[in-house]
Amino acid sequence: MKRLILVFLLLFIASSMAIPADNRTISFILPQGTPFTKPDLESDLDLDIQLFFTDDLKVLWKAEIDDVHWYRCYNDDGFFYLPEMLVVEYPEKLKLDQNGNIEIGLAEVDREYAIPLDYRPDDLVPVPEIYRAEGYEWRDMLLRRKAAEVFERLIDHAEQDGVHIRILSAFRDAEYQANLYAGAIRRDGFFQNSIAKPGHSEHQLGTVCDLTTSEINSGLSKSFENTIAYQWLRDHVTDYGISLTYPKYKVEVTGYIYEPWHYRYMGKDRWLVLDRDPKIFYTR
Ligand SMILES: [Zn+2]
Repeated sequence: MKRLILVFLLLFIASSMAIPADNRTISFILPQGTPFTKPDLESDLDLDIQLFFTDDLKVLWKAEIDDVHWYRCYNDDGFFYLPEMLVVEYPEKLKLDQNGNIEIGLAEVDREYAIPLDYRPDDLVPVPEIYRAEGYEWRDMLLRRKAAEVFERLIDHAEQDGVHIRILSAFRDAEYQANLYAGAIRRDGFFQNSIAKPGHSEHQLGTVCDLTTSEINSGLSKSFENTIAYQWLRDHVTDYGISLTYPKYKVEVTGYIYEPWHYRYMGKDRWLVLDRDPKIFYTR
């Protein structure tokens, strides 16, 4: 019996030594990719390990090297390095309502805070054709029921004032975002700042719209800020509990480019708080 206890004790010690010091789990966020052999964005990518979207990886340690956070990780296939741009850390537990949805206006989603990659609100409804900009997205356009109602009322109101506004893009799940993100990295490199990481995009909340107007041929462009539609939105969105997430004066704080087209429905109560403290959501 004593020997058996000793064996169990040795087994216990051996297994606890195998537990890494930093036992967090992170997820890979490109649709597909290869990890790095060493912490160096220029290093060769000939590791024979394939990673896929949402693959969970264990972390041995994390260190800042040349201004980039690198993770030393492993999975069943081996050990490797990954830069912060290719992974998300599991977000802290979010408070969800009884239907598993994030309460509107409450989630902090920015460069630092993520929502789970598998989060998808259960009250998404299709946006009727008449509110959609033509020819931009082939997918079904979805918004949470309450947000759809509010954005539709906003567009109707603009229409009554003779102003043309349409929705270009609404809900995006994390997988769709991963494709956009991979494209932005291919185009502008690892330090691109135009597309949010999957899990870090407000579009996944289902309460956000990119808006456009016929004045700029219903496209997505910075020149939106010079349109009558933009002026009209500036004067009216707060009445609807909607706010511009990435205004010009917040580029430093949000870390994203100025997006005159990106609007989030926060709910009226929440907007009042935001109006008093415009930095409330932006921790860096
Ligand atoms: Zn957007």
